[in-house]
Amino acid sequence: MPSDHQPPGPGLPPDLPGPPPCHEGTLIVGASQAGLQLAVALRQAGDTSPLLLVGEEPYAPYQRPPLSKEYLAGELAPEALAFRTPAFYAEQGIELLTGERVTSVGLSGGRGTAHTATGRTLGFARLALTVGAAPRRLDVPGTGLDGVLTLRDRDDAARLRERLADARRVVIVGGGFIGLETAAAARARDKDVTVVEAGPRLMGRAVAPAVSAAYRAAHERRGTRVLLSTAV
Ligand SMILES: Cc1cc2nc3c(=O)[nH]c(=O)nc-3n(C[C@H](O)[C@H](O)[C@H](O)COP(=O)(O)OP(=O)(O)OC[C@H]3O[C@@H](n4cnc5c(N)ncnc54)[C@H](O)[C@@H]3O)c2cc1C
Repeated sequence: MPSDHQPPGPGLPPDLPGPPPCHEGTLIVGASQAGLQLAVALRQAGDTSPLLLVGEEPYAPYQRPPLSKEYLAGELAPEALAFRTPAFYAEQGIELLTGERVTSVGLSGGRGTAHTATGRTLGFARLALTVGAAPRRLDVPGTGLDGVLTLRDRDDAARLRERLADARRVVIVGGGFIGLETAAAARARDKDVTVVEAGPRLMGRAVAPAVSAAYRAAHERRGTRVLLSTAV
C-alpha cells in the first residue's frame, strides 16, 4: 500500500458522498467479528471519538459459524446471522459503511486517509485492520468450473445451500471443521458425500489423533466416505 495520501487516480470514480472525514476518530477496516468487537470494546473503555467500521461485504457484521451449520441446513434466516441490530450501532455511535473495499491507506500532513474502491476518501486519527482471512484456493485445473464452490461468507453459504438442493454427489476438499460440518449438512439431505483430506487424519491441525479417529468413525457411520492422505 502506498505510504502517502494519493488522490483517486485516472479512471477511478470521483469522491462519493459518504461519512464525513473523521480525522479525530478511529477507522476500522474489516466489518466482521474482530472489527465489531474492537468498536464495542473502545466504547466500553470510554472512547467517545468517532468510530467508523468499513467492510467490503454488503452486510452488517454477521456470525460465520452458522454458515456451515444451521444456515446451510436452511434452519436460519439470513437476518438471524447479524451480531447486532441497526439500533445498536446508532445507540453506540458506531458508523457502519458496508460494500466498500479499502484499497489504500496513507498519511498526509500527519493525517490519516484511506481510499475505497468506489472512490470514497475516509479520514482517521487511528487505524485498525481487522481484515480476517480468505480460504486458500486450490491451484489445480478445473477449480473455476460450475459447481465448484468455496465456503467463507454469507453469499458463499447461500450459493452452496441452493446448489445442494439439486446435487446428488458432493465432494468436499478439506477434512477440517468447516469441511466436516458441510459434509454433515449434505448427508442430512441424503447426498452421496465424500470428504477428501490430504493429511493422514481429519482436523489434523486442531485435535488429537484419538479425536480425529472418533470423528472419522462418526461421519462414516452416517454414510460419509472419508479419503485420507489423498490430495486433489
Ligand atoms: C463457515 C465457517 C464456519 C465457522 N465456524 C466456526 C465455529 O464453529 N467456531 C469458531 O470459533 N469459529 C468458526 N469460524 C471462524 C470464525 O468465523 C472466524 O474466526 C471469524 O469470522 C474471524 O473474524 P475476523 O473479524 O477476524 O475476520 P473475518 O470474519 O474474516 O472478517 C474480515 C472482514 O474484513 C473484510 N475485509 C477484508 N479486506 C477488506 C478491505 N480491504 N476493505 C474492507 N473490508 C475488508 C472481509 O470482507 C471480511 O468481512 C467459522 C468460519 C467459517 C467461514
